Amino acid sequence: MNTDALLSWFRENARPLPWRERPDPYAVWLSEIMAQQTRIETMLPYWQRFLERWPTVNDLAQAELDDVLSAWSGLGYYTRARNLHAAAKALSERGFPSTAEGWMEIPGVGRYTAGAVASIAFNADEPLVDGNVERVLTRWHYITDDARAPATQRRLWELARAHLPPGRAGDWNQALMELGATVCSPRRPRCERCPLSAGCGAYRAGDPESLPNKPRKGESPEVRGVCGAWFSGGRVLMARRPDEGLLGGLWELPGQELVADEPEPLALIRAFSERLGLQVKPVARLGQVRHIFTHRKLTLGVWLLDGDGAPPPQHQGYSAARLVAPEELVELGVSTLARRSLELVGFGAQTTLFAAQPTVEYKV
Ligand code: SF4
Repeated sequence: MNTDALLSWFRENARPLPWRERPDPYAVWLSEIMAQQTRIETMLPYWQRFLERWPTVNDLAQAELDDVLSAWSGLGYYTRARNLHAAAKALSERGFPSTAEGWMEIPGVGRYTAGAVASIAFNADEPLVDGNVERVLTRWHYITDDARAPATQRRLWELARAHLPPGRAGDWNQALMELGATVCSPRRPRCERCPLSAGCGAYRAGDPESLPNKPRKGESPEVRGVCGAWFSGGRVLMARRPDEGLLGGLWELPGQELVADEPEPLALIRAFSERLGLQVKPVARLGQVRHIFTHRKLTLGVWLLDGDGAPPPQHQGYSAARLVAPEELVELGVSTLARRSLELVGFGAQTTLFAAQPTVEYKV
């Protein structure tokens, strides 16, 4: 067993991540939720901003959900932000659990996060398997079975537990993750610098890049949608999605997905009429934004709409709708997709509103 070799490598090579200097449960839990499906460099400023704005879990529990979503804007996978807020309320009432089992009862906390927080913040003897650990373990133990298969996942968790040095689980788990992130990378792993190379099956076999074995899944479907910018008094109409579902609770330019090969202008007219009670005229297609979700690829046409008038009297299928001035955008939770749509209409964070608007006429 290469326990000592890996732990000493970690002591010498660990990146100086701030939660390693502040391993309290709140900071560690926050870092783990933010790091899911997100690069460390991306989430780090968010982690710092959250701790400055809400220094304790009680502060976060008392925050408005819209403020949390707004602070989360750009980090993606927004269900995490809603769960984070719900979890803060639960943690503020019950206190921080010290076991993985206790953490599993907290909203948004799965088996991996439970193991991570319990081991890193409380040094509980709990294993974890994330993408990095999966890569290291499948290579080290030369596991060539389909890595997604439940039997393989069970085996990986058993191995992760079997390797745990009692009383040092926090360092051990972080060491495995760090090795996967910095040495045992998906492409071109640096085996010659790896503390596990002496006992590594994939290194011996000469094909570490082939593992973990993940047969390609079917391509995710292509979906088309459309959204429109409608102005009144220098402000743009924004709509808030329902709390549940994809991008729940976030604000966007109103629109909808296209039905079959429906033309974008017709879909826009229909969406504004049915969902907002507004009669609009699409005057120019400003461009399109492409976004890849986990389960589909969306191409969203962005249009400038004609007409001025009163704010919408109704909204169907949205939880709210309102006119927003550029400087008010920072107060709203806006997805990356919506932010890029807004940039196409000249309504980005740094822009002033509409010095000149396109005048291209579109006939429908
Ligand atoms: S020797 Fe290479 S393949 Fe094996 S664990 Fe180390 S970096 Fe990964």
